[in-house]
Amino acid sequence: MVNATKKTNRTRIISLLALITAFCLQTFPLVSQEEVFTLCYHNIFRISGEPGPCYISAGRLEEQLKYFRDEGYRSVLPEDIFKHINGTEPLDKKCILFSFDDTHESHYTIAAPLLEKYGFRGTFFIMTVVIGKKHYMTGTQIKSLADRGHCIANHTYDHQDLRKLPAGQWKKQIEDSNNKLEKITGTNICFFAYPFGACNRYAAENLQKRGMELSFQLSGKQIPGFPLQSQRRLMVSGTWSSGRLNKEMLRTFRKQ
Ligand SMILES: [Zn+2]
Repeated sequence: MVNATKKTNRTRIISLLALITAFCLQTFPLVSQEEVFTLCYHNIFRISGEPGPCYISAGRLEEQLKYFRDEGYRSVLPEDIFKHINGTEPLDKKCILFSFDDTHESHYTIAAPLLEKYGFRGTFFIMTVVIGKKHYMTGTQIKSLADRGHCIANHTYDHQDLRKLPAGQWKKQIEDSNNKLEKITGTNICFFAYPFGACNRYAAENLQKRGMELSFQLSGKQIPGFPLQSQRRLMVSGTWSSGRLNKEMLRTFRKQ
C-alpha cells in the first residue's frame, strides 16, 4: 500500500514536471535556437525605378538569389521555422526565408519566377483589400503561387497598425482576411506579418489568440514571452550588393 502511494506520487510529480517543461518550451522556445535568416522585400521593378529600402530592381534581386544559390543556401517557409523553434525539425545554418509584403503584382510576374529559377520558394504576405486591383495580384495569381509551393500568409485587410487596433476591428483584419485567403488557396492560413513591422504585447496576444502560429515583424526586439509572435526579418535595401546583404544578415541575426 505504501509502495502504491509512493508510485502514484511519483507519477504525479513526473506529470507535473512534463507539464511545466511543455509550458516553458511553448513560452520560451527561442532560448537555445539560432534565428533563421529571414529577408523582407517590397516593390520590385524591371526598368524604371529608384532602388531604396522598399524598392529593388529585378537585376539586383536576381544577383542576390544567385549568390544564395551559389553559397549553398536552401529556402524555407514559415512552417519550417515553426518546427525549428519547437525543436521537432532543426534547420541548419544555410537556410533562408524570402518574404514579400503587400500583394504587389511584381511578386507574381518577377519575384516568383526568379525564386523558382534558382530552386527557391517564397512567402507572400497578402493585404487582402487590394486583391484584383490595378498593379496588385489577382486571386488566380495568388492561388497559382500556393499551387507552386510558395507560402501565402496574412498581412491584414488594409494595412492597419495593430498596436492600438480597437477590439471591434480584429475580426475584419485577421479572421476575415484568413477566410478570404483560405478560400482562394485552399490552404490553412496561420502565418502573419505586422504592417510597418509594428508589434507590441497587445497585438501579439491577439494574434496568438486568433490562431497565428508565427507572426513576423522587422528587425526590432522580440516581445518578451511572445517569441513566436515577434519573429524578426531584415528589410533588404535595393542598393545593397550581395556582399553587403550578407554582412547585414550576420549583423542582424548573428550579432557579428
Ligand atoms: Zn506592408
